[in-house]
Amino acid sequence: MKLCFIGSGYVGLVSAACFADLGHEVFCVDKDNVKIESLKKGIVPFYEPGLGELVKKNVEQGHLKFTKDLKEALTSSNIVFITVGTPSSYDRRADLSQVRNAAFEIGKNISDYKVIVNKSTVPVGTADLVEKIIKENQTKKVPFDVISNPEFLREGNAIYDFMNPDRVVIGTSSEKAKVIMEKLYSSFSKVMFTDVRSAEMIKYASNAFLATKVSFINEVANLCEKVGADVTEVAKGMGHDKRIGADFLNAGIGFSGSCFPKDTKALAEIAKENGCESEIVSAAIKVNDKQKLIPILKLKDILGDIRGKTIGILGLSFIPDTDDIRDAASIDIIRALLAEGADVKATDPVATFNMKKMFPKLMYFEDVYETVKNCDALILVTEWNEYKGIDFAKVKNLMRKPIIIDGRNLFNREELEKLGFYYEGIGR
Ligand code: NAD
Repeated sequence: MKLCFIGSGYVGLVSAACFADLGHEVFCVDKDNVKIESLKKGIVPFYEPGLGELVKKNVEQGHLKFTKDLKEALTSSNIVFITVGTPSSYDRRADLSQVRNAAFEIGKNISDYKVIVNKSTVPVGTADLVEKIIKENQTKKVPFDVISNPEFLREGNAIYDFMNPDRVVIGTSSEKAKVIMEKLYSSFSKVMFTDVRSAEMIKYASNAFLATKVSFINEVANLCEKVGADVTEVAKGMGHDKRIGADFLNAGIGFSGSCFPKDTKALAEIAKENGCESEIVSAAIKVNDKQKLIPILKLKDILGDIRGKTIGILGLSFIPDTDDIRDAASIDIIRALLAEGADVKATDPVATFNMKKMFPKLMYFEDVYETVKNCDALILVTEWNEYKGIDFAKVKNLMRKPIIIDGRNLFNREELEKLGFYYEGIGR
């Protein structure tokens, strides 16, 4: 089938490359000229494991094309995906300006029937908004359907998640659109059709539920510390219960990133606008805001004043295997450390480039051992696999004081204590 993606970011490019790999003809459009020029040369402008190879292969086979020309892409496609960003706006609601612009451009350029698929995460009712904007701006009055097909992939594992989803959710009331989408997803096993508004709601409810699970176990972790229990054991015991499940029960410094923080806030605002209280989701957000700064409280307990102390940060991206730092916990931690007058040294396998744009004056290192040199304490923020193999005997000799705050419970407390470290995890 012939597809067009408006927005070639983490979701648009991954989905486009995967559909191309399944044999469809795919056009990717982006308003960012630099991104398109880079993609045309086969360079993926962000880090996602395996994506570079997948893009290159499908460009070479002629299945995947990049263009700034929306009209060309739209004219050549039967299905048009909107995969633009929906960040938090100043009032915590989803900022739909990119979606509105995409709808406007579709309206101006549509010349025959298309299925317009909203894959961006958007508040309930956005499909109606997109339909209205397209209709208002149509130069040629042709029929079209706007449907919802939210995306559930996780950065760092995006290709696998896209190709092996737990479910594909499609919201539409149009029989014509349904037949087309059934054909597009014919090789996927768990396709669920529903109405548009329920599909839009499924995405927010799913993210809010997972975020709440994280905040729940973090609240339990904080209690574990007080009563002398180990949250990793508690989570293991809970996770064996099929009704609870083991995923998203890792205590740590909270949820962060490009989706959970903005989507929980947006859902709470949607509830407010509709006269409902979102007490559980609001509590999950509140718990998380405090949880992110727990490493700072722990540091102050151990070191007293942290002014003038050198603190090393291991990991900057919001999760491992991505260079995405949007709403990363590292940002809050770095801000708090700088506000307390600490000096910060930081390392990450791929995200230092992005973090430099936000904190240009920090000391950044590629090498973990250069980072830890002369540090008064370390904070593990992102649980990159690379950090599991750290030689802590070497680290101890390089640090000024052997203190580790393990924000993701990645390291082995006993081993570190045996080496002479002062170790603090979360909830253990
Ligand atoms: P992103 O910022 O990486 O990509 C969005 C792209 O859209 C950018 O490249 C931007 O230049 C482009 N764009 C914006 N307006 C445009 C326009 N009018 N025409 C052409 N291009 C335009 O965002 P993302 O992380 O890919 O997220 C996209 C959507 O998917 C969001 O709603 C997000 O919540 C949702 N989502 C993201 C993830 C994730 O892990 N990143 C997972 C599931 C769902």
